[in-house]
Amino acid sequence: MGLVALGTLCPLFLHSLLAAGPMEVERTVYLMGTRATLVVTAPDRVVALRQLDRMVRSLEQTEATLSTWRQSTELGRLNRQPVGEPFEVGSDVCALWPILIRWHEETSGAFDPAVGALIEAWGLREGGRRPSATELTAARAVSGLRHFAFDSGSGACRVTRLGEVTLDAGAFGKGEALRRLQADRQNGLPWRVDLGGQVAVSVATRRPGGWPAAIAHPVRRGESVIDIVLDEGSLATSGASERAFSVDGVRIAHILDPRTGEALYRRESATVWHQDPLVADLLSTALYVMGPEAGVHFAESHGLAALFLAPSTEGTSNGAAARATAPFARRFPEATGQVFDQIETSVQRGPS
Ligand code: AMP
Ligand code: MG
Repeated sequence: MGLVALGTLCPLFLHSLLAAGPMEVERTVYLMGTRATLVVTAPDRVVALRQLDRMVRSLEQTEATLSTWRQSTELGRLNRQPVGEPFEVGSDVCALWPILIRWHEETSGAFDPAVGALIEAWGLREGGRRPSATELTAARAVSGLRHFAFDSGSGACRVTRLGEVTLDAGAFGKGEALRRLQADRQNGLPWRVDLGGQVAVSVATRRPGGWPAAIAHPVRRGESVIDIVLDEGSLATSGASERAFSVDGVRIAHILDPRTGEALYRRESATVWHQDPLVADLLSTALYVMGPEAGVHFAESHGLAALFLAPSTEGTSNGAAARATAPFARRFPEATGQVFDQIETSVQRGPS
């Protein structure tokens, strides 16, 4: 009876009836040097577009503060502040700085945002080159967070360059941008943002059933290897697939080991899930630097959900072998199923 009644309705009205309920509106913009895809679930299009506008503005604002590619941003200006002269930073950077110090220390220097000189020495922004021994020594001498003094006492917040050191926001800028989106309670509709290599979802209002997300092949970035469901926090991946160069016949990636000053190339990508997108971002870079052995050990001892993917053709259907920590396997049980008999977790390994 109901079916007959529906059948007599005009097709347009029928379509709008069936389409009633939450809709997903997507927007793609180019910012932070990457393609950003934002999706919002909303009762109607106008409301969705309003939130999408707000979110894009927020991402642009973060970029306008933190980008170290531009000279006009807050961090860009800090990088050019005369040595020894304190630079007053705003409340956002003031809150961010101790977190950078904390994880720099926790990772024993594998994450170091003060690697501007090394990045320049290796030409990592211009296609890569091998620095001479003298250049490398000079760059190492002015790399490292210890070359900045941070002082947040007496109401003001100041950062002082103690030498020709410069910051590079590459490993934490996107994460901080996503963290700010999550912290803004006015983004009340469920959302997911993909910043190319890092995905985050809304925390204040969740999407029932979570959001679909994919983990890419460690070398062929366009290929998805693991499909997961993300219902909170953020998933960040660091790998060589994004940008890798050939220098004197040796491949190097865009990530370097601040402890040795050497540019790295690893085939394995490092993925970290964390409640806080900032931490997910900086830790995925740190774990890539550490490599699978030390990286899994670090992640396990810190109770982190982490995954290393290596290209593999042996007995795999998706061309990758996985190694995950127990918290990762617990959070994403669907991942274990997909890389069946390849995923090696600390749960399965057990005591030997
Ligand atoms: P991600 O893609 O998040 O792993 O960040 C990599 C970017 O961070 C690079 O393109 C550099 O700009 C910067 N970077 C490279 N090596 C490091 C490092 N060891 N610690 C912090 N930042 C780094
Ligand atoms: Mg990162």
